[in-house]
Amino acid sequence: MIYDEEKQLKNDKKGENRDMDCRIVTIPGDGIGPEIVREACKVLDKTGQVFGHKFQYTEILMGGCSIDAYGVPLTEEALETARKSDAVLLGAVGGDVGNSRWYNVAPNLRPEAGLLAIRKGLNLFANIRPAYLYSQLADACPLKKEIIGDGFDMVIMRELTGGLYFGERHTSSVDGVMTAVDTLTYNENEIRRIAVKAFDIAMKRRKKVISVDKANVLDSSRLWRNVVEEVAKDYPEVELSHMLVDNCAMQLVMNPGQFDVILTENMFGDILSDEASMITGSIGMLSSASLNETKFGLYEPSHGSAPDIAGKDMANPIATILSAAMMLRYSFDLDEEADAIESAVQKVLTDGYRTGDIYGEGCTKVGTEKMGDLIADNVCRQ
Ligand code: NAD
Repeated sequence: MIYDEEKQLKNDKKGENRDMDCRIVTIPGDGIGPEIVREACKVLDKTGQVFGHKFQYTEILMGGCSIDAYGVPLTEEALETARKSDAVLLGAVGGDVGNSRWYNVAPNLRPEAGLLAIRKGLNLFANIRPAYLYSQLADACPLKKEIIGDGFDMVIMRELTGGLYFGERHTSSVDGVMTAVDTLTYNENEIRRIAVKAFDIAMKRRKKVISVDKANVLDSSRLWRNVVEEVAKDYPEVELSHMLVDNCAMQLVMNPGQFDVILTENMFGDILSDEASMITGSIGMLSSASLNETKFGLYEPSHGSAPDIAGKDMANPIATILSAAMMLRYSFDLDEEADAIESAVQKVLTDGYRTGDIYGEGCTKVGTEKMGDLIADNVCRQ
């Protein structure tokens, strides 16, 4: 990212934000991807106008559209373009799995292989998924009112490139019995770098980390716990506690309000983040970020490409718009600007506007484009 030093000095003197030029790679992808990324860029541009920043976009192809153009889901050139940017904003990739020409090929040539390639190619080891209950959408939450209480607002920090999904595996016959082996490996460096991310993010939130493991059984969890405790010493303001994964699965549906940042390894995070998404009751609202060791990150909605509603102006763009807000917060340290986008989303929901997926009685139904317009119109300095 490029700072204008002269402007920055003037603004610092005035106590205002720095003007910044942010180079963003966009990946509209397939299905509803292009529609929702368009709306997110609209909201970013309005935020740039209000706060004096410039967002420069470079679009690359990934997924089915890249297969159509180049025969592969992600080209080396596209990956290199992403690598040279400050952050990546992704819509979604993939088509109708049962009924699309993109799926009659080897798994490494399918649209979703682009996702794995970009995560690996950019070393995105830290995945953050917020689970936030909007009071305006509380009826969609499957939990009882007495459990929801004042709502919940947590993020799950999941390690994304190690553990069971990346360990050695094989299936063979042992004494005539088919036997499968998967290995769960973590080294202290992998644990330390994700723990640092979790504590950094807790410092921007309510300063509470719950580290989730299975330390009563697994060696990898015992190492996890020791390293997390070491890292915690550098963050005296953050309260750390530990929870076993089976207990965490229960606590999420018994008392979700207790969580701020959940820090956990790859497979536990895979399962717990889906559970946490479900209790918000609205997939079209959930953002996510995947970060590497620097400020660089890839930001995307938690949902897929929804081919069933693509091109019909029916998609909810809010998850992508909130992903753009995460990008401002975590890659560009523009917390006030991120707050402004999140407040604009709240305002539009409070005013009763809804896309079809979150529509309820008495609300005003709007399409993708109108929802983007409304949110952009409401972005302002607080
Ligand atoms: P999906 O999330 O795309 O859709 C599930 C259901 O939710 C559908 O009924 C869809 O219409 C609805 N939905 C999803 N997002 C919505 C939005 N923003 N607004 C309104 N409704 C929305 O999941 P799926 O149907 O299992 O997968 C479809 C394709 O997406 C597949 O090719 C899959 O591989 C791909 N996928 C991609 C990603 C990604 O790019 N990160 C993630 C998951 C799935």
